Amino acid sequence: MKYIMALDQGTTSSRCILFDRNGTPVSTAQKEFTQYYPQPGWVEHDAMEIWATQIGVAKEAMLKIGAESSDIAAIGITNQRETTVIWDKATGKPVANAIVWQCRRTADMCAGLVKRGLTDFIRERTGLLIDPYFSATKVSYILHSDTEIMERAKRGELLFGTVETWLIWNLTGGKVHVTDYSNASRTMMFNIHTLKWDNDILELLDIPPQILPEVVNSSGVMGYTDPSLLGGEIPVGSAAGDQQAALFGQCCFEKGCVKNTYGTGAFLLMNTGSKPIRSESGLLTTVAWGIDGKVTYALEGSVFVAGAVIQWLRDELCLVRTASETEEIAESVEDTNGVYIVPAFVGLGAPYWKPDARGIITGLTRGANRAHIVRAALEAIAYQSADVMKAMEKDAGCEIRFVKTDGGASANNFLMRFQADIMNKSVHRPACLETTALGAAYMAGLAVNFWGGTDELAKLNKVAAEFEPSMSDEVRNRLLNGWAEAVKRAVV
Ligand code: ADP
Repeated sequence: MKYIMALDQGTTSSRCILFDRNGTPVSTAQKEFTQYYPQPGWVEHDAMEIWATQIGVAKEAMLKIGAESSDIAAIGITNQRETTVIWDKATGKPVANAIVWQCRRTADMCAGLVKRGLTDFIRERTGLLIDPYFSATKVSYILHSDTEIMERAKRGELLFGTVETWLIWNLTGGKVHVTDYSNASRTMMFNIHTLKWDNDILELLDIPPQILPEVVNSSGVMGYTDPSLLGGEIPVGSAAGDQQAALFGQCCFEKGCVKNTYGTGAFLLMNTGSKPIRSESGLLTTVAWGIDGKVTYALEGSVFVAGAVIQWLRDELCLVRTASETEEIAESVEDTNGVYIVPAFVGLGAPYWKPDARGIITGLTRGANRAHIVRAALEAIAYQSADVMKAMEKDAGCEIRFVKTDGGASANNFLMRFQADIMNKSVHRPACLETTALGAAYMAGLAVNFWGGTDELAKLNKVAAEFEPSMSDEVRNRLLNGWAEAVKRAVV
């Protein structure tokens, strides 16, 4: 057996990467699928199209290098989290379009729960803040949208799943209905302490428990592919939410280890070991993964606008032609000349949680030029990440020593250097930036002994670049104070 197949089912595309024994990608295929916006703030996917594109890219990646099913030791799955599918057990047809994590249609339902004083109750049980982002209110919405749907659910004719559950069910020819601990922990229906679906929450939202999948380890054989799909029976060896898979792909196996993924937004996760830590700073408590029946927890903080501020410079302000040229432009000036950008385009996420904050540029003088603004945009990504990291240190009561980075914008050396400087911590960037798919592959490979253990994985995972802080305390403090002032103005 030569390869592990990672299925990376993202929000805008389905991808497949085949990894060899060194953890090196040897074949990749990717296909975008349709985004539906039926109303402002609503986002849907066609679950059949998700499945069709995902199995399509799996076949394509195999074909590209002439791989047979017998060359593939296991399949690992990682997925867009929280997105909700409900389908008919007998026909395999979804009863409605999937409601995507971004969809805000259940905002009123969530506001109602908050008004009833349930914030602490939900946080105690699930580690999450009440928000339309998570699956629970989406499930309730679909079930209550049609009495016929609810009746069928009660009769046990329907199944619920987040995207990995949907894919596993289809891969196994409808034989296996499971989710993993990491994905379950994003549904807002899963008790992260007892590691069971929470009956009180199910009752609260009127969700019949018979539609729920069995919760299993993130790494472990869950079933086998139907031979009609890929030409043979391949074990399905892992499933994990995208951010948790990236944490694993970065080999953050130790308590206190942190990764930051710089994509459209920035997602920071800290491994907190065998104990869930309740956040006092607006972070979420979540399950990182379950392996051999043992669960590892994480603290999570999201920055809503990270790489997206660079897209904004490019597409709206037309200040740059490509995202990558921002590195050279930022380095052409000594500093931002006092300019700060707070890109609160959709409010501010952790640790502020200010949905009504809006973007702001401060400190403009006659001498402020294009390069200063470009630099301020990149610095804003680093400041926001540093804010989340500080909150993590406070909640976890430990000092973060270094941060592992990945995602599209982590290619920017200026950003990585400034991140190290402003946090006064080292920043490590791995050779393989496909950490999400790699994490799924690692977990699947462990399940079938393709790799011997996490020590072996840590050896495969090479750091390609290390950025050490070199900024004086005086400059750092001055800059951080300036940032804090700018944030205050954005929040007013
Ligand atoms: P996602 O998975 O969220 O689509 P990616 O990990 O593909 O995101 O990263 C794309 C984001 O990173 C875009 O917002 C883009 O503006 C930004 N980006 C890509 N390359 C660079 C770069 N060299 N410097 C700064 N930002 C970049």
